[in-house]
Amino acid sequence: MNQLTPCYGCGEQIHSSAKSCPKCGAVSKNIEEVSPTNAWLLLIVCLFIGVFGIHRFMTGQVLWGIIYLFTFGFFGIGWLMDCALILFGAYRDSEDRRVRF
Ligand SMILES: [Zn+2]
Repeated sequence: MNQLTPCYGCGEQIHSSAKSCPKCGAVSKNIEEVSPTNAWLLLIVCLFIGVFGIHRFMTGQVLWGIIYLFTFGFFGIGWLMDCALILFGAYRDSEDRRVRF
């Protein structure tokens, strides 16, 4: 995601994921939203029945869930990637909220 957001300190366009403004040093007030999804549960579901896209349905990504269901976790590749993403806390739900432990 290459979203830019105006810095509340100096108004400069900075990357939305930046923790602080590189120009004026103001700490970003955009606190990252965390998904309400339980990461442990999601990880277990992904590991065991993730090839059917169940974890995608859990996080509101219904379209991806259906694709996974018919392609066995996007031919296993998508499933493997999702397992790794969840494990490292980098998985994002349908509203782009990070699923954290
Ligand atoms: Zn600034």
